[in-house]
Amino acid sequence: MQITETKTVTETKEIYVAPCLKCGSADIKLWDCGYTEGNVGGGVCKECGHEGKQGWIGSSPSKEQLAGIWNAANDIDTLITAENTKIEASRRTITELESLRRERADAAARKGNLGAKLQHVQRLKEEGAALAEKANDAAQEAVELQRATEVEAFFESFKLSVTLSIERGELPKPYALEEGEAYQHLGAWDSGMVAKLNTGQSKYSPQWKALIDWGAGNGLKVDCLYTWDGGGTRSWHVLTVKPMP
Ligand SMILES: [Zn+2]
Repeated sequence: MQITETKTVTETKEIYVAPCLKCGSADIKLWDCGYTEGNVGGGVCKECGHEGKQGWIGSSPSKEQLAGIWNAANDIDTLITAENTKIEASRRTITELESLRRERADAAARKGNLGAKLQHVQRLKEEGAALAEKANDAAQEAVELQRATEVEAFFESFKLSVTLSIERGELPKPYALEEGEAYQHLGAWDSGMVAKLNTGQSKYSPQWKALIDWGAGNGLKVDCLYTWDGGGTRSWHVLTVKPMP
């Protein structure tokens, strides 16, 4: 013989309820109106009265459902994700509209006289040139960033060399800026290099200032001295440190 038994299983679940977006309070009451049709529910902040609710939610909603409604209007990460989704949708719409504009213009140009067609070709050329310029700017920016990184890496290696020498109880070796990328970018053959770095006229003044500040923070005065060979065919700079006076 077989019999059946029905039992209700009680399940306990942790439900996340976001703090109130308006006042930050974590004291949130989840509620619903209890209507059988056209029910309204969500959450309300007990601190400031801010509500996060939704209509037409069905009768006897679960706490999880109510928390979901509240969180959608109050959880910062959820809100950011929702805004990003809107941005994505707008971007797609703009791309579609732009291609529609192009199609319409193409269609109009095909119908027009030679003057209209020529105008269309000119516009396309202008658009192409504008795009190429944009790409050029981006490429130039990448090059500048790369150079700044190389100068920074050079200063970092100097800092490391100074630190290791002093900690080993040795005198820091003068650090010559006479070849390599940093030499090129900084224009280290030019006797005016340090003045340009000091007065913000060099692109790398921020990196230089960071080096000076690092020295000052460690009780060191960083100096950069201009020097040249006997024949006067080559010139460069040498980085040194001395104790702060
Ligand atoms: Zn509140």
